Amino acid sequence: MAVAETKSFQNYIDGEWVDAVHGETFESVSPATGELIGVFPRSGAEDVDRAVAAAKAAYEKWRLVPAPRRGEILFRFGQLLIEQKDELALLMTREMGKVLPEAGGDVQEAVDMSFYMAGEGRRLFGHTTPSELPDKFNMSVRMPIGVIGVITPWNFPIAIPSWKIAPALVCGNTVVFKPATDTPLLGERFVELLAEAGVPKGVVNIVHGGGGAVGDRLVRHPDVPVITLTGSRETGVEVLRAAADGLKHVHLELGGKNAVIVMDDADLELAVDGIVWSAFGTSGQRCTAASRVIVHERVYDELASRLVVAAEKLRLGPGWEPDTDVGPVINKTALDKIHSYTEIGEGEGARLLTGGEVASGDGLGQGFYYRPTIFGDVEAQMRIAQEEIFGPTTALIRVSDVDEAIRVANGIRFGLSSSIFTRDVNTAFRAMRDLETGITYVNAGTIGAEVHLPFGGTKETGNGHREAGQAALDVFTEWKSIYVDYSGRLQKAQIDTAET
Ligand code: NAD
Repeated sequence: MAVAETKSFQNYIDGEWVDAVHGETFESVSPATGELIGVFPRSGAEDVDRAVAAAKAAYEKWRLVPAPRRGEILFRFGQLLIEQKDELALLMTREMGKVLPEAGGDVQEAVDMSFYMAGEGRRLFGHTTPSELPDKFNMSVRMPIGVIGVITPWNFPIAIPSWKIAPALVCGNTVVFKPATDTPLLGERFVELLAEAGVPKGVVNIVHGGGGAVGDRLVRHPDVPVITLTGSRETGVEVLRAAADGLKHVHLELGGKNAVIVMDDADLELAVDGIVWSAFGTSGQRCTAASRVIVHERVYDELASRLVVAAEKLRLGPGWEPDTDVGPVINKTALDKIHSYTEIGEGEGARLLTGGEVASGDGLGQGFYYRPTIFGDVEAQMRIAQEEIFGPTTALIRVSDVDEAIRVANGIRFGLSSSIFTRDVNTAFRAMRDLETGITYVNAGTIGAEVHLPFGGTKETGNGHREAGQAALDVFTEWKSIYVDYSGRLQKAQIDTAET
């Protein structure tokens, strides 16, 4: 598919589209064909500073806009996303490669999040509590915090910005947004639509550029009290360190190494469908991708052979072609990394059951395609079973009972998503209790979160926060406790309670 017109794009700061101060640029290129998608400003510290200054100034008015009014803008934004869904999905397929139905799902998630957070404008519940003193009223309310630095990855280029920016705005904060350099055009469209929905100037700003120049400056900027980042574990650690001196609130959504458990009483057909979707959807480039499959020994051989058949049926190609099941991976670096893990797996003694190679026939050579890959006979401690590959590779691990399955599932540094296929309600409830992940599915794959539930992980997947649902509000607000004394005399709490 030809990109109709390649354009130069700009930053959006204080309601104006502007070039980077130093005029440098970078290109966004389609991973499906190598086509140029657009040219974007390679921004630096001065651009970040300008955007933060605009967001800081805009905050003074925005925080006083009644929350239901802020929510109404998000309703309009959600409606615009619905109207533009097809166009955005096609852009997404071109810019980052996922197949059209998944790209539509990415946009839909942003629609759902915008509507959910818009409704939050009429809730933002606090608490009222009794006082320990007479004629005194106590309450706690949520307060906005200020300028939020939003740093996002490329794999959900519309959904993830919405998980952060929609709650940030409804809570009364302003935003400086740095999208990934692999998906700047989708970041750009996201902000254009927010402006069209009525977000006032300065309230949302976008600054394009790399993690080192733009991201790091945002993280260290003294006028940015909150950073919300979705990305790799390594980036999360760097950001946390950089933010330490400013004692900032840092919200991190990081990597995963998610497991599907298949017990001997499972519906194997359902399990195969769930695993194929979770392991190879978005070419395995989901934080919740099923990159480990922990299988009861009694059904291991049967499941392995069914999975291989299913994986080999998947058709690779550009995501906009209707018969494509699996699109490209994001770039050459990712392709090389994914293939290096095939070599690592073979070197470790795992058995390559299918895939394990770059796909280049049938015109695929212009893009970055990797064959869906399944390793068998994987030991739980092998690197391919421990490290995030972020590609269409999954590892089958044999176990003898549910205790071992849960032990293996938990035996990693990450804790994002997990799943179990079983027909035994007791086994299901044990797994729901004992799997150390922020999300657990029963008789479904490891992907498919809904926006009104908390989303995030335990252990090194993050630092204890959650996005989505009511939990997201804790990232974007501070609690304030308020005491109103209407007794007309000085009452000393904790001291004179006995005198009442
Ligand atoms: P990445 O860590 O390379 O980049 C993420 C963002 O951080 C980008 O915008 C990047 O420019 C920026 N960045 C990089 N270094 C920075 C620095 N020093 N300071 C500030 N910003 C910096 O990740 P990616 O390759 O874009 O995305 C893939 C990763 O994201 C995977 O590890 C995946 O598991 C994770 N992810 C997690 C979730 C989740 O919710 N837990 C969701 C999606 C993706």
